[in-house]
Amino acid sequence: MTTGPGTLERQSPTAGSVELRTLRERSRRVLRSVLMIVTVSLVMVAVVVINRDEASIRSCAQRMEAARQVFQTLQDQGLPPPPTLPLPTEGVDADEHRRLVRELQSHVYYDAIFDHRPGTSHDVGVCCCREPHARLIGPDGRHVLVFDTQTGKYAVLWLRDTEFARRAGELGLRIPGED
Ligand SMILES: [Zn+2]
Repeated sequence: MTTGPGTLERQSPTAGSVELRTLRERSRRVLRSVLMIVTVSLVMVAVVVINRDEASIRSCAQRMEAARQVFQTLQDQGLPPPPTLPLPTEGVDADEHRRLVRELQSHVYYDAIFDHRPGTSHDVGVCCCREPHARLIGPDGRHVLVFDTQTGKYAVLWLRDTEFARRAGELGLRIPGED
C-alpha cells in the first residue's frame, strides 16, 4: 500500500493539534501551579501578620493586667497610685528591665494625675495604648485601664478605636499629640 500526498497532509494537522493540545495542557498546569504558589504564599503572609497582631495585643493585655493588679493592691491598701506605670520585674535583669520600661512608656500613655477621688465620676481613664493596635482581621483597638470611682475597682478594657474616640473625653484621657 502506498502513501499518497493526501494521506500525509491529513496526518500532519493531526500530529500538530495533539502537540498544541499537549502544550496548552502543560501551560495550564504551569499556570495552576503558579496560582497555587501565589495563593499559599498570600495565606502564609496573612497568617504571619495575624499572629504578629494577636501576639502584640496579648503581650499588651498582660502588661495592662499586671499594672491593674498593682493599682488595685495600692488602692485596697489606701495608698496613692504609682508615679510611673508599674512593670513586672521577676526574672528580668536590669538591662532588660530598662528596655521594657522604654517600650512600655513609648506604647502606653499614663495619666499619672488621674482623678482617683471616690465618687467624682463613674469611670476614669488611667492609661491606654497611645496608638491603636492595627489588625488585618477585625477592628483596630486599644487597651484602656479604667478606675471605677464608685466601687474603687480597676479594670482593663479593650475598646475598638471608634469607641475609644467616643469615650476618651468622658474618661479624661487626652493623649498628648492627639486631637
Ligand atoms: Zn497596646
